[in-house]
Amino acid sequence: MVALAPAALLAAWEQVRELPPPHRPAALLRAFGAPPQTSVGRRDAALLDAFAENFGPSLEGLARCPGCGTEVELSVSVAELTAGMPPARPVEPLDVGGRTLHWRLPDDGDLVAAAQAGSPERGALVLLSRCVPDGGRPLDAQERVALAECVEAADPFADITFTLTCPGCATVWDSPLDPAEFLWARFAARARRLLGEVDELARAYGWPEREILALPQARRDSYLELVRRG
Ligand SMILES: [Zn+2]
Repeated sequence: MVALAPAALLAAWEQVRELPPPHRPAALLRAFGAPPQTSVGRRDAALLDAFAENFGPSLEGLARCPGCGTEVELSVSVAELTAGMPPARPVEPLDVGGRTLHWRLPDDGDLVAAAQAGSPERGALVLLSRCVPDGGRPLDAQERVALAECVEAADPFADITFTLTCPGCATVWDSPLDPAEFLWARFAARARRLLGEVDELARAYGWPEREILALPQARRDSYLELVRRG
């Protein structure tokens, strides 16, 4: 996993922002030089690594209390999140109701297909069906439930949740966490900040974008301070 230099970050931001959201996680990983991952959970674990490498050790954001609507600040350490994950169970053939399912973990392509299914229920069905590649008759309800449990246990990072408590009304709830969303939000914010810095320094000194982006951050900050002081 690499820390992106400013010019590379802006180039990647331009590419990724054009993509529909289901395609962004894989594109972000490519931007950070990570190899394609074989499951959604491994992809999300790699996205968390990229976040920590580039934007620091904690995920910070806001969540809304389902009890009273108060916005609650959340701060989760990537290291704690990773350490708290249960070990992945192996992917083994599943015997359910007299049928043996040979299945695999869902990957990025399966998520994209599920997102195009039209509704969350239909998407879940598409996802699970794709995980049993050798086909046969469609999965019945019992098989779907059993397979969903196996998929979750074998790929714990695919479904990251953490527990929040509302300081206003003491409601406790589990909030899902999407590493790609956190990474993309910080990535886009960093890109916009860089563009602002280029704009300010180019106006003040007439330097070209390439040279401004090549300055070390500390030196760019010092020039910005001088410009702002007038
Ligand atoms: Zn509340």
